[in-house]
Amino acid sequence: MSEPKKVVVIGSANADLVVALNRRPGPGETVMGADLVVSPGGKGANQAVAAGMLGAPVVFLGAVGEDEHGELLLGSLRGAGVDVAHVARPDRPTGNAYIMVTPDGENSIVVSPGANSAVAEADVDAARGVLAEAAVMVLSLEIPLSTVAHAVASAAELGVRPVLNLSPTAELPDEVLAALDPLVVNEHEAAWLLGAEGSPEDLATRLLDVGPRSVVVTIGAKGAVVADRAGVHTVPSPQVKPVDTTGAGDAFTGALAGRLAAGEDLVEAARFAVRVAATSVTRHGAQPSYPRADEVIG
Ligand code: ATP
Repeated sequence: MSEPKKVVVIGSANADLVVALNRRPGPGETVMGADLVVSPGGKGANQAVAAGMLGAPVVFLGAVGEDEHGELLLGSLRGAGVDVAHVARPDRPTGNAYIMVTPDGENSIVVSPGANSAVAEADVDAARGVLAEAAVMVLSLEIPLSTVAHAVASAAELGVRPVLNLSPTAELPDEVLAALDPLVVNEHEAAWLLGAEGSPEDLATRLLDVGPRSVVVTIGAKGAVVADRAGVHTVPSPQVKPVDTTGAGDAFTGALAGRLAAGEDLVEAARFAVRVAATSVTRHGAQPSYPRADEVIG
């Protein structure tokens, strides 16, 4: 039997520093919160762990500092079976996300990118042999945009399918947008990109006209909408009682990438990804909430 095709995730790794509080502070104000909870996060590491937990062969390309948070992230990646041989250790602190959670369930987040800022085009070139073995490359925008653009160009040269989650939002060069298969966005990111609101189906269809080969719009508890040249499909989510939606979008993208690498089509892969993401929202945290294949609901 041939080796299963790999997923390469190129992206950020952050320690999530989470404090629950009754209300967020105003300018110049101090409020008291609950005990600090530190957990592994960052969009790239989340996506890699989500795919790895489900059994996909995953390589993570990123950077963490030579510090305690770096060890936390490497431990979580390794625990999910992710290959971390291409994680650099620059002389920068590991990226951190300072997350304030209020009783209404809303998060306010400040990200200090640290080592993530050092993920460079040369790192992508150094991993070219690994990229050449991959079926799918997963990208998001918490690392420099120039690195993402270079990675997508390398994917095109090597015949690797690029999947990009436009988070946080940024203007993408046209040639990057045109290569994506799919572009993954939530409703806010879709509306930002189009400069207009609309139904999820409408947003997905109009995004396809902006250039990507295919589009997925995630719609929270309602699931996702998939659009490609063959048509538009709404993929409903199983109904669950959410306790924490942190990292749900990354669970979706990681699961989607794993199934695309295994040869499923986009709609089939999205049907699995909504089940994985729905499972993740029934548990606390980002990476700690991600299920193994036998734990996926629905
Ligand atoms: P996040 O920022 O929370 O990681 P997001 O804003 O990028 O997520 P969403 O569309 O809110 O993206 O959620 C991504 C996916 O997670 C959805 O497509 C869905 O599969 C799942 N999901 C999110 N919220 C719920 C929920 N309440 N119930 C079931 N599934 C959910």
